[in-house]
Amino acid sequence: MKVVHIDLGDRSYDIKIGRDLLGTVGGDLADLCGPRKVALVTDENVEPLYAPVVNDSLKAAGFEVTPIVLPPGEDQKTLDVAKTLYDRFIEFGMDRKSVAVALGGGVIGDLAGFAAATYMRGIPFVQIPTTLLAQVDSSVGGKTAVDHTRGKNLIGAFHQPIAVFIDANVLRTLPTEEFRAGLVELIKHGFIRDEELLKFIEENADAVDALDPDIMTKAIARSVEIKAAVVEEDEKEHGLRAILNYGHTVGHAIESLTSYTKYRHGEAVAVGMMCAARMGRVLGLLTDEDVARHERILSRFDLPVRLSGEEIGLIMEQIYRDKKAVSGTLRLVLLDGIGKTVIRDDVPKETIRQAIAETS
Ligand code: ADP
Ligand code: ZN
Repeated sequence: MKVVHIDLGDRSYDIKIGRDLLGTVGGDLADLCGPRKVALVTDENVEPLYAPVVNDSLKAAGFEVTPIVLPPGEDQKTLDVAKTLYDRFIEFGMDRKSVAVALGGGVIGDLAGFAAATYMRGIPFVQIPTTLLAQVDSSVGGKTAVDHTRGKNLIGAFHQPIAVFIDANVLRTLPTEEFRAGLVELIKHGFIRDEELLKFIEENADAVDALDPDIMTKAIARSVEIKAAVVEEDEKEHGLRAILNYGHTVGHAIESLTSYTKYRHGEAVAVGMMCAARMGRVLGLLTDEDVARHERILSRFDLPVRLSGEEIGLIMEQIYRDKKAVSGTLRLVLLDGIGKTVIRDDVPKETIRQAIAETS
């Protein structure tokens, strides 16, 4: 078991990472706050697998629990569904001291987090992320949001949890593709800040694939530490936090061009990192071997590393339409060697096109 402390002044909290943690959530939460009402928000897939053990543990520790079970899927991340959460909170008699617990993937975390951030101007929030993506990405950083028809995550708030519980064993029931897509963000953390983490994944790839709980606990903990260090320095995304967007400029373009149907987020970011690596190589920041290293580790987990030819022109158009394109120049997160980032807004369009074309 590992504990990563997130140091954000009076909003500091611990992330506990290990195996078989779900049965001790109640006791741990009781150490943080006395008996009170808890809304356990989850989805229909996760509920039968993990809600009973969390529910029992909370009740045994003296909490009064109401489970709220939503259909799975990104289309739940709306203000309408947030409103049904407020309705349920009110019916259950929740006050400002009541706790919202999110048990599920990023969708449940974002939605329950947003409801917790806004109900009575903010109530305590606990995350129990059950997808790898949510464990290494959205559970650290305090971003909560719902989607708008005009864009994803357009309505949101920063709201830090009071505790996060990451159980490596819950990954066993996750579909392999979901697991591998989540792994992309973990690998990304290695590329941007920690070559040791990258080496660890390279050397233990078989154990990672087999979901060895000790290996996964170590990898997740390191990944969480890296994201935490970035978030501690730049909680509200003024600067440094941008480095977490490595691979995301092209990744987001691909996702939006394919209407969020062809690629999972992590899969789009995998190809996006390949493009970013090649931009780095064209600029002389990375070697051919560095690019090959990207391709090897992503291919090892059957992640997409190539674009189709017809996507190139569309991606060029899309990235320049993107909100990050201020006055025609793109702000790109690139690597200056493995483990080190640079932000560049002077990369010629032709270099970008060449790198994207080489990725097809
Ligand atoms: P993400 O974390 O990738 O944003 P979601 O919240 O949409 O994803 O979860 C992806 C899918 O995986 C959903 O259908 C969800 O119900 C399901 N899911 C989440 N966690 C688990 C788990 N541990 N085992 C099986 N299915 C899960
Ligand atoms: Zn991402």
